Amino acid sequence: MSILVHYSEIGTKGNNRPFFENTLVRNIGKALNAKAERLYGKILVEATHSKENGLVLQHIPGIAHFSFCRSVEPKLEEIKDTVLAVAKKSKAKTFRIDASRSDKKFPYNSLQLNNILGEYVLAHTKMRVKLNKPGLTVYLEIDPKQAFVYTEKARGIGGLPVGTAGKVVCLLSGGIDSPVAAYSLMKRGCEVVFVHFYNYDEKAKAAKKKKIENLVKELNRFQLKSKLYMVPFLELQTELVKHVPPRYRILIYRRLMLKIAEEILRREGAKGFVMGDNIGQVASQTLENINAVYEAARYPVFAPLIGMNKQEIIEAAEHIGTYKTSIIPYEDCCTFLVAKHPETKAAVKKIKELESKLDTGEMIKEALKRADLTEF
Ligand code: ATP
Ligand code: MG
Repeated sequence: MSILVHYSEIGTKGNNRPFFENTLVRNIGKALNAKAERLYGKILVEATHSKENGLVLQHIPGIAHFSFCRSVEPKLEEIKDTVLAVAKKSKAKTFRIDASRSDKKFPYNSLQLNNILGEYVLAHTKMRVKLNKPGLTVYLEIDPKQAFVYTEKARGIGGLPVGTAGKVVCLLSGGIDSPVAAYSLMKRGCEVVFVHFYNYDEKAKAAKKKKIENLVKELNRFQLKSKLYMVPFLELQTELVKHVPPRYRILIYRRLMLKIAEEILRREGAKGFVMGDNIGQVASQTLENINAVYEAARYPVFAPLIGMNKQEIIEAAEHIGTYKTSIIPYEDCCTFLVAKHPETKAAVKKIKELESKLDTGEMIKEALKRADLTEF
């Protein structure tokens, strides 16, 4: 059976178009474990018309819409029979035909095809033609080697195929926001590597790590292969609590996270960070504080949720399937560091001064050495 996939945005890629198309073909083939091939401006997949396969395709960035279709020889008689069979099967009372051809040599143009096929259905059924909101639309696409007939277009998530935009490192907390931020970059073609900092001991880890792994598993449906680095942070946190006044802790803590993640970024050949920051959501997310944190990064920090409202982020998390896991209680290191009176307008100068009192060099090395990597 065939599934016809149409993509978004790739049409504007000029000479790079084959690269984008081939990446999407590969991603689809791998996700469905099926044969996928590039046709004229679309992709043809050999796979069953199952709900499961539909669900897989709904998670692949780059797909604008897809259809379970019948494929027939591009001959008028065969097309007529197929269109009629599809119309009869639908039990709809009204219909319209929506034909298009990428093969301009086909002897009839789309308008003529709409008329010929419409009349054929009218003559052999009791259905009526209705151009606006019909009970059934029969789509027909004619290629040089075959023609495709289908009645439904299922929406994909659009964007660009993962693997066309390079790698980024996501600082993944156990919260609602960072998974959505990771998804936003996958949707733009980035491969996302995950880094999570934890402050429990190794004994508690086996059970607690599950939540973070489950978040990565959900997100992995969009990119099909993921890496998760779990970085121990307890020792650094203890050092920090010893030397930094409460109001600055969380900011210095975030800076340390970025510095450690930078090592992973280099190891992975990534080109930037992704974080779930959102202006004003919590005290550490004033513009001043975001500035003070990001100043520690030597690579760009992308924060795609920066201007969204909390409700919009929650809806997005529900939509991508991470919300249920995100709201499971989880003692994050940050919960531990939250101050009664946090600094809301941190000056970089002050932060750096406090930082200079910490001796974290060896601890960072040690944390990286003990970081464990899980592949999905
Ligand atoms: P989230 O819902 O993603 O936790 P948030 O709005 O609650 O975000 P914070 O908890 O202040 O904000 O964290 C801001 C960002 O810092 C997170 O979105 C995430 O990118 C990063 N971050 C926070 N805690 C961790 C952690 N333990 N490990 C890795 N990254 C973290
Ligand atoms: Mg959080």
